[in-house]
Amino acid sequence: MKFKKSLKITICAFITIIVCMTFTGCLENCVNIQTPKFNNLNDFNDSDIKLKVSFLDVGQGDSILLSSDDEFVLVDAGEKEYGETVLDYIKSQGARSLKYVIATHPHSDHVGGLSAVINGIECENFITSETDQSTTTWLNVLRAVDKNDVNYIDSQPGSTYSFGEAEFTVLAPLSDGYEGYNNYSVVIKATCSNISYLLCGDAETISEKEMLKAKEDLSADVIKLGHHGSSTSSSKAFIKAVNPSFAIISCGKNNDYGHPHKETIKTLNDFNITYYRTDEVGTIVSVTDGTYLKFSSSTGEIANETYIPASENSSKSSFDTNDKTQPDKETYIGNKNSKIFHKPDCSGAKNMSDKNKVYFNSREKAVKDGYKPCGSCNP
Ligand SMILES: [Zn+2]
Ligand SMILES: [Zn+2]
Repeated sequence: MKFKKSLKITICAFITIIVCMTFTGCLENCVNIQTPKFNNLNDFNDSDIKLKVSFLDVGQGDSILLSSDDEFVLVDAGEKEYGETVLDYIKSQGARSLKYVIATHPHSDHVGGLSAVINGIECENFITSETDQSTTTWLNVLRAVDKNDVNYIDSQPGSTYSFGEAEFTVLAPLSDGYEGYNNYSVVIKATCSNISYLLCGDAETISEKEMLKAKEDLSADVIKLGHHGSSTSSSKAFIKAVNPSFAIISCGKNNDYGHPHKETIKTLNDFNITYYRTDEVGTIVSVTDGTYLKFSSSTGEIANETYIPASENSSKSSFDTNDKTQPDKETYIGNKNSKIFHKPDCSGAKNMSDKNKVYFNSREKAVKDGYKPCGSCNP
């Protein structure tokens, strides 16, 4: 008994010392990597932004503009009625030309507005995947490409293109002969330093399986879910491999398809992924300096709300080893998906499913691995 008691005291003293060291250490050294609370955007200036990704509100459809150092990439342009809106937005961003225009696949909710864009601003390269689509909408796009002498590129998986300080790699489609056009979607992963965005077009589970099988590096911090959040996309295996912290759903208010489907929302919740929907918050803008991410929306609903440290690759690959670390009573518990860490007695930690848990022996280690402190337990 006596021995046990003194052991307890020793352990308590030891923990106190560790905690004190951690905190004093942090005051001196961690100011820059400490995650600011919401609305504290001081250490992430506009001048530090290296990549801006705008998920435009084009109702039931997709249109995404990426920009880095005044070089622009457009992925889709919504239905025809949104062509001018998309073009206006591109111009409002100061673009005089688009370096790459990607038509993910020839459905009108993605390419309807593209001819207006291609006819309205200088475009250097046009990337798409070959299909036998022959609707007037699609033929108009191809005509605009031809008429404006835009360089036509047949998408090739593995090809990488740079723009400003960022680049994107084509991940899919990996084959052809698909039923329907969704799986022909050109899927790209755009990367700027440590931050990646995976843009899935309308790719469905068949294409997702092929990407998984190809053992491509699918990991990304932000995913634009395939097919407007339909349950025919975003399979658990795929989302698990991407392991995103954030998901974007581009869909129209009260759309006829019931997008996003409840199965998809359940998957996001199961993996603790924060998601934003264009039908709820309008155009969603994400900016990064290559290490941090920030989101805002045109309705102001998510303005300044989120500001997270990057999920560094090192932390992702160290999950497995961390998992096996014996959970000490006084360790901090992080959530692999939300990248938030808690004190062990916080409800956020108690309610976390075991598979999402990662243990840290110190606060510093958690912050270093890209985790941000929980706002309620303030670890
Ligand atoms: Zn489609
Ligand atoms: Zn679509």
